[in-house]
Parts: sequence; structure tokens; C-alpha cells
Amino acid sequence: MSSLEHESGPSPANEPEDFIRERIRADLSEGRFREPVITRFPPEPNGYLHIGHAKSICLNFGLARDFGGKCNLRFDDTNPTKEEDEFVQAIMADVRWLGFDWEERLFFASDYFQQLYDWAVKLVKDGKAYVDDLTADEIRDHRGTLTAPGRESPYRNRSASENLDLLERMRAGEFPDGSRVLRARIDMASPNLNLRDPVMYRILHAHHHRTGDTWCIYPMYDWAHGQSDSLEGITHSVCTLEFEDHRPLYDWFVKSLSIHHPRQIEFARLNLTYTILAKRKLQALVKEGHVRGWDDPRMPTLAGIRRRGYTPEAVRAFCDRIGVAKRESRVDIALLEFSLREELNRTAPRVMAVLRPLLVTLENFPEGHTEETLAVNNPEDESAGTRKVKLSRQLYIEQDDFMEQPVPKYFRLAPGREVRLKHAYFIRCERVIKDAAGRVVELRCTYDPATSGGSAPDGRKVKGTLHWVSADHAITAEVRLYDHLFSRPDPEDVEEGATYLDHLNPNSLDVLSECKLEATLASARPGDRFQFLRHGYFCIDAVDSRPERMVFNRTVSLRDSWAKIAGSD
Ligand code: ATP
Ligand code: MG
Repeated sequence: MSSLEHESGPSPANEPEDFIRERIRADLSEGRFREPVITRFPPEPNGYLHIGHAKSICLNFGLARDFGGKCNLRFDDTNPTKEEDEFVQAIMADVRWLGFDWEERLFFASDYFQQLYDWAVKLVKDGKAYVDDLTADEIRDHRGTLTAPGRESPYRNRSASENLDLLERMRAGEFPDGSRVLRARIDMASPNLNLRDPVMYRILHAHHHRTGDTWCIYPMYDWAHGQSDSLEGITHSVCTLEFEDHRPLYDWFVKSLSIHHPRQIEFARLNLTYTILAKRKLQALVKEGHVRGWDDPRMPTLAGIRRRGYTPEAVRAFCDRIGVAKRESRVDIALLEFSLREELNRTAPRVMAVLRPLLVTLENFPEGHTEETLAVNNPEDESAGTRKVKLSRQLYIEQDDFMEQPVPKYFRLAPGREVRLKHAYFIRCERVIKDAAGRVVELRCTYDPATSGGSAPDGRKVKGTLHWVSADHAITAEVRLYDHLFSRPDPEDVEEGATYLDHLNPNSLDVLSECKLEATLASARPGDRFQFLRHGYFCIDAVDSRPERMVFNRTVSLRDSWAKIAGSD
């Protein structure tokens, strides 16, 4: 597990400046840019954003904030067959949810299609681009390998006027898909494969979600991206490491066009244990029905974790903590959970909820009588106040808070044993009632009225304190417990012939339908978050919960494996 970023632990708030900020500061002091710092977040609208994108969003908007600049939102929509307006809308909602604002600076690469085309014409006229009639397979074959240089296309030395004519006819729709491409004329022997005459335009008679049928040639990512950055006056184009080898091409295009030249800086993408972060693979999970949708609370999408109960503050705190690096690694998902607990511990009101109920009857508690006990809403936050919790003759405790034959060190309820009910009395188990199959279905107990403050006047001690819910007043609800979606720390680390889909965790969802919640939850609203005492943090499902049938998601359990790992507890 040496690749896990365990060693460092949560970093202090005042961490040293990262290499990106250092680079920007150097650029500013050298006067490389006259403009203020302008960054951008450039998603392709071909899926929902995931927690990896959150890192990029926090980084790009954070740089703009720290340097008094701006960050644009730009949709990189150059791939009409995979992109949809649904994704555009979802992405905007997610960026806003994370707490960032692009103000009026919403852009689409498709807004630049005409400008990109005009620039392509310029490169053709300058002898720096040509129309190639080779097929896709032939182009691949001519490209060479890392060890062998490529071969020039027989069409590479067409005249500028012939190229211009062919490009215009490509655009006019005269040629079928895949029959020709426009390529940059750079160097088929370059050690960098990206410089071996990369494709700039392909013919694609496809409807685009914004430009409709205006275009039947579409720019490739490399041809669109740097020029879009340049048009927007981006100073620092921050992207993930896989684009490092594309930087010479990025630079070649903007230099060849003599336009504003942003600096591209690469950083390592976020990888998380037990998690896949790739839109295409997440889409497969949705399409093949392994999850209930992009916003399934098990998904690492922002829509999924939001529904599960994550807060934007916790996600931002996590992104601050992991910082940026130049080396790929896999961050332990326990660190994300740690960031979430840290916040919810401060903010989430405590309530009592029994997930697997066992009926308890207090034999000496008067029939039909109800008492109210005072409960603290959040011991971490005095201003959260108190609430009144109802107690009656029958109540529920957790099934596993009782053992008929207690093992050593089991301090909860057992025949003849006394425990404390949280916020209420000591109770003693007098008798066990079983059904015909021998299962325990009810406990007959007595309570000691003298212990209402949680301690006994005669000084006798109990070792266990149980949460409970009054049976007369309980709300019956559904609670969904989640575990990692994948059963391996690296889901892509698979045997030959297997895929990440072979390591889906079959127990990632556990639905409990007969949970008993304290009555104060009746007024809670979708999205509200609570700590269920001794269980963890839960949130009312924003999609499926109904007033008459509430549904809760477990956001995260109380068990803090990160604290243990980091040795800070
Ligand atoms: P995916 O592989 O999930 O489709 P992508 O890189 O193709 O991701 P884009 O929509 O092109 O998705 O990404 C928008 C921005 O988010 C890019 O700048 C990209 O580098 C960044 N990004 C994507 N995934 C991660 C990640 N795991 N960690 C950090 N940044 C990421
Ligand atoms: Mg992409």
C-alpha cells in the first residue's frame, strides 16, 4: 500500500505553496503576462462530474481567487456524438453546488468553431496544414511507434491551393465521414508522437447539441483546446498529466498562429481507493444497470455524493488537504470520509434511530403514560440547543444491543443485566420472549424511576448506554446503508481477461425497511443531515423520500479508519 498517501496525514491549514502557485508567481514577477491570472475549468459535456473533477474545479477557481483573477467555465464540446445538454445542465449545477461562480464567463468551444476554421485556413495557406486522403487505419500505420519514425503521407505535399479547395469542400459536406482529414504539417520523425502531423479536423455528419447541422467537420481536442484558451485570454491552462506530451503541440499551434500564448501546467489526476474516476466507465455502470443512475449515492459523481449527504465544504476541505502533485498516486478514500466527518461532527444534530429494532416492554412503566426527556442536539455546538424526546412503556433498541448469552467484554443488555437508556433511565432485563422458531422477539424489562438523570442515587454503575426509540411515537422509515462500490483498493488492478466490472462489491447497498426513528424527525426535509447516535451520519434522500415514507441514506459511518491510519487519534 506504499502508493497510498497515508504517511503525510491530513495537512495543516497553512501548507507550503504548491508547484503550480510557485510557477504562476514566477510568471507574474517575470512579467510574462500583462493580464491578471485567468484560469478555466474545461469539462467535456459527455457525463456527470466526479470527485476528480472537483479537484480540478477547486484548483482552477482557487488559483483565480488566490491571485485576484478569474476562472471561466468552458464546455469542451467538440465531440457531437457523445455530448448532450443534460450533461451541460448537470455540470453547471455541480460547479455551483461546490460553491464556485463563473459569473458571466460561460463559454463553449463550439462558439469558436468559425474562428478555429479561419485559423485552419491560415495554417493551410502558410503550408502548415494539409488535407490527407489516407484512411484512419493508414494514418495509424504511417504514424510509426515510439522507436520507429513515422512515414509521410503521399498527400503531404499538396499545394496550398489544392488543400484550401479540399478543406472548403470538406466543410461544404461534399465528402463522406472518414474519407479525409485535415492534418497539421509538423514532423513525421518527431520523437513525440503528438507532433507527427496530428489530425485537426475530421468529417462527421452529426448533429451538435448547440450548433445543430451547421458543421460537418469537427475540430479535434488538441486543435480546439489551446486556441480556446488563447481566445479567452487564459494565462494558466492547468490540466492533468496525460496532457504533458501534448504541450509541445499546444505550443506549436498558438505559436504558428501568433496568438496569445497561455502556459499549460500539468498536475497529477486524483485517484481514490475503491473508486473509478472516469466518465466513460461511470457511464457504463449507469447504462448496464449496476447502479441506479448518475446520482446513485454509491457513485463518486458530485450528484451521487451530494444525494448521499456530502457537503460542498467537506469536498473542498478534502481537495485542500490532498493538494496538487506531479506524481500519480491513489488517495485513501478514508481521507475523504475523514473530511466529511470532521464537518458533520460540528454541524449535524444528533438523533436516536434504531436500524434493526427489538421490542422492549418496561413492565413497571404505567400503561398509556408518556414522559419527555431532554436531549442535547449537538454536544459540539451548544447553540444547537436541546429537544424533548418521548418515552413510553414500549420502546425499541438495536437487536445487537442484546445478547442472551453475553460474551466477555459485552457490556450491553443481557438477561438480569442493567444498562442505561441514553437521556433516560436504567433498565434491567427480566425476561426474554421468543417466537416459535426460538428467535428473540421481545424483552421484558423494568426501569428504575430514581435514575432519570442517567445515574443511580445509590451509586451503582452500569457499563452500557443504549440508544432507543419510543414504540408509540416512532417513525418507521427506510434506511440505505452503503459500502464501497468496488471491492478492491484499485478496481482496475485485474487479472487477465477481467475488468473493473468484475470487482463490483455485491454488498455495496443494504436496504433496511423497518427502521424506527425518533418522532422529532417528522419535520425534517429532503437533504437534511443528522447523526444517528452510535451509527453515523445520515441524510434524507432527496429523490425517494416521502413524508409518509421517509428514506435515509447513510452518508458515512462513525468509525474513523483515517484517524487510525494517520495515528492522530
Ligand atoms: P474522464 O476521464 O472522467 O472523462 P476527462 O479528463 O476526460 O475525465 P474532462 O471533462 O475532459 O474529463 O475534464 C475536465 C477537467 O477535469 C480536465 O481539465 C481534466 O484534466 C480534469 N480532471 C478530470 N479527471 C480528473 C481527476 N481524476 N483528477 C483531477 N482532475 C481531473
Ligand atoms: Mg476528456
